[in-house]
Amino acid sequence: MRQQMRWLLPLLVALALLAPAASTRAGGGDTYSGGSDYGGSSDYGGSSDYGSSSYDYSSSSSSGGGTSEGGELAILLIFLFIGGLTVLGVAVQHWDRRSTRKRAMASGKMLPAAQPYMFELLNTHVGNFSRVMFDAFVRLVYTRYHESQGGFGSAGNALAVAPYLSPALRAKFKAAGDESGWIVVGAQRITHVALAEGRIIAHVHIKANLRLKTGDKFKRQLLSEELRFERPVGVVSREPEKVYSLGCPACGASQELTLRGTCPSCGTAIGGGELDWQLTGIKTLARTDVGEGVISQAAEVGTNLPTVVDPRLKSRWRALTSRDPQLTQELLLARFKMIFEAIQKGWTMQDAGLIRPHELDTLYDMHVYWLARFKEERIRNVLENLKVKRIELAKIDHDAWYDAVTVRIRAQVDDFYVDAEGNPLAGEAGREFTEYWTFIRRSGRQHGVPRAKLECPSCGAALDKVNQAGICEYCGNKVVTGDFDWVLATIEQDEEYRG
Ligand SMILES: [Zn+2]
Ligand SMILES: [Zn+2]
Repeated sequence: MRQQMRWLLPLLVALALLAPAASTRAGGGDTYSGGSDYGGSSDYGGSSDYGSSSYDYSSSSSSGGGTSEGGELAILLIFLFIGGLTVLGVAVQHWDRRSTRKRAMASGKMLPAAQPYMFELLNTHVGNFSRVMFDAFVRLVYTRYHESQGGFGSAGNALAVAPYLSPALRAKFKAAGDESGWIVVGAQRITHVALAEGRIIAHVHIKANLRLKTGDKFKRQLLSEELRFERPVGVVSREPEKVYSLGCPACGASQELTLRGTCPSCGTAIGGGELDWQLTGIKTLARTDVGEGVISQAAEVGTNLPTVVDPRLKSRWRALTSRDPQLTQELLLARFKMIFEAIQKGWTMQDAGLIRPHELDTLYDMHVYWLARFKEERIRNVLENLKVKRIELAKIDHDAWYDAVTVRIRAQVDDFYVDAEGNPLAGEAGREFTEYWTFIRRSGRQHGVPRAKLECPSCGAALDKVNQAGICEYCGNKVVTGDFDWVLATIEQDEEYRG
């Protein structure tokens, strides 16, 4: 017994280390303080019958990397896993208990849904407002804020982010002398929008994973923060490429602002957030050191919830296809399915290069983070026998810069965790799950039909030379922005999705 205990401990420690990442899949769900209130399902009431707006893939068995051989292997693994060793049996119970704890922890922590009035205000008072762009911008500024120590640190983009942080916030950050860290946003939602003194104010609630390095030790924290962004009413949004490159909103230069808050390069006053959103406040709601039992390989709580379908879906689809008459649902969903499978495969192979061509930078950064964490723990999340069972349209948005299509994807997979030697640690065969994936494409320009093959959306070449920046080295274009074809912008867990 003692002997068993001796190696039970390292195993449990390994599982505990693994735990925060355990239920990520590529979806990244549940990796930040658990967040949902599983009790209330009233928000899901609004689903309507759109019989034609989905594709059922149950009969055709496609896969991201599995074969029937894989299936046999999986069964063997389960057999080893369940039957083999008492120690593993104990580990399984341990695992289950943590799932329960997750539920207990989670009650009342759901991020509230953004209300329609918020978007009405934003659309009215922000010229060319785009929800997709705003979300991406918020993530970018927030992560750069942490990584660059408020724009004072030496980490990349430190000066580029400065015009987007209020002088007061920068000063506060400097005084606090926080360590810089690696941060990824797990969830974010607009929680409040208001007008005050000629400015529009938007509050955004963010849940994030922060990783701090002190000496040669790492500390991980889950952060729940409320951000306040402000901009003058009526200022028109610039185009996405300019927004995402940060720097001076007038000329693009990345230089420390003058004391008067002007850009040294073009002389424009920018330090007070004159030309774009500026982050003017951060309220930390919770900051938790990540320890054992924070998260688990939880049950798939949302799998059987009805699909949250936007009531405007049908009219939005008609509008989309009138702008792009070549587009059919079949073509669109074929591309989404291809991307879904490519990302699951990249996840399993721990090959970020397979994921890169299909994702916006913000989402890709999160996936790179988790893949790196897995590698550090010498653990691999193996997804085998992936079967996409159904893809259902849920929502379509359109603005000055983007078309956005959200689908709910139902899939089944053998979901395992193995160590560096390939030994199984935990997992479940035939795990069925659903997630809401939102794909975007630049609006206001002509596009060809969606590509359903693994080829560059710009030049059609193989995807083997898309670099970390998302640039295809065959054609020199950045292909991960939605400029050329649909790319993935966000993944939301079914129990979190609110439309
Ligand atoms: Zn300038
Ligand atoms: Zn290309």
